[in-house]
Amino acid sequence: MTVVVIGAGVAGLACARVLHDAGVAVRVLERAAAPGGRLGGDVVDGRPVDLGAAYFTASDPGFAAVVEGWHAAGLVHPWSGDFRVYGPAPAGRTQPVRWAAPGGLAALAAELAAGLDVTCGVAVKDLTVFDGPVVLAMPAPQAAEVLPAAAGLAAAQDWQPSLAVALRYGRQDWKPLTGAFVNDHPVLTTLCDDGSRRGDGAPVLVAHTTPAFAIESAAGDVEAAVRELLDLPRAAVAVAVRRWPHARPSRPSDSAFAQVEGVYLAGDGFGRPRVEAAWLSGRSVARAMLDYQNPKTPRTASRAR
Ligand SMILES: Cc1cc2nc3c(=O)[nH]c(=O)nc-3n(C[C@H](O)[C@H](O)[C@H](O)COP(=O)(O)OP(=O)(O)OC[C@H]3O[C@@H](n4cnc5c(N)ncnc54)[C@H](O)[C@@H]3O)c2cc1C
Repeated sequence: MTVVVIGAGVAGLACARVLHDAGVAVRVLERAAAPGGRLGGDVVDGRPVDLGAAYFTASDPGFAAVVEGWHAAGLVHPWSGDFRVYGPAPAGRTQPVRWAAPGGLAALAAELAAGLDVTCGVAVKDLTVFDGPVVLAMPAPQAAEVLPAAAGLAAAQDWQPSLAVALRYGRQDWKPLTGAFVNDHPVLTTLCDDGSRRGDGAPVLVAHTTPAFAIESAAGDVEAAVRELLDLPRAAVAVAVRRWPHARPSRPSDSAFAQVEGVYLAGDGFGRPRVEAAWLSGRSVARAMLDYQNPKTPRTASRAR
């Protein structure tokens, strides 16, 4: 029996990796041209730029061990523990180590996918064609497109959009910056210096917007907001925009995954909506499947580590 994992983001690949390593036949189907999901980016004037996750953190020991492996392989580097805060700052908050990928976060998806049976360019529309276990590793609204019974979960998690705008400048006119949280701003939520993040020093900023400004025609407003925030004397010379219709849930579930009509649902809708949560969720689904095959270990939908 082959397990079919639909979605080659962090959650789907983490799930498939555990199953594969346990000797279970597993196939991953992804509708995009490449794995990665919301680790995706674009190329601006010949230079790649991350437009999905800005960075990631690692607090779970299992995930931290994976990150150490990526670090040793040169895929990631500890980037910033000193984000600026514009607007009201939460009191007493310590800054975690934020990891970034010099070659882009999508490289991590490629690494997770190595050796797995992953087919890209396949948009699954009908789950009845699969006769084995199925995992939908994606935001719940996307899961609901193929599994209508997941619509209730999608509504409960309340997914919000975001616009990512990459701005390339002729030169760096801002004081040294890694990244910034922009609190209580009508347009911006975060701003990252992509040259600092990648380590090549390129004068490129990436802004993420509030849900209200997550429309592609808002790129000009985003550029103006960044110029005002950093008091920049010049406009950007190149702009790239990516809209994420399901960027993050405002009310993620407490459990590590869900099962709806026998189908497993995984992703960052379970736990704190971050790369690490997606990895933990995918891994928890795989472990639950393995526990089910071996009933000596208790099977649970709680946050198994
Ligand atoms: C703008 C933005 C900023 C972010 N910033 C951060 C950050 O700073 N730090 C952090 O830790 N996290 C951040 N995140 C969140 C992080 O990107 C996600 O937590 C993580 O990438 C989610 O992985 P996933 O596997 O759960 O889902 P996804 O990455 O969304 O993967 C789901 C996959 O399923 C595929 N799919 C969907 N439907 C189908 C179908 N019918 N058939 C086949 N394939 C399908 C999709 O194409 C996609 O590849 C950010 C996200 C966004 C959008």
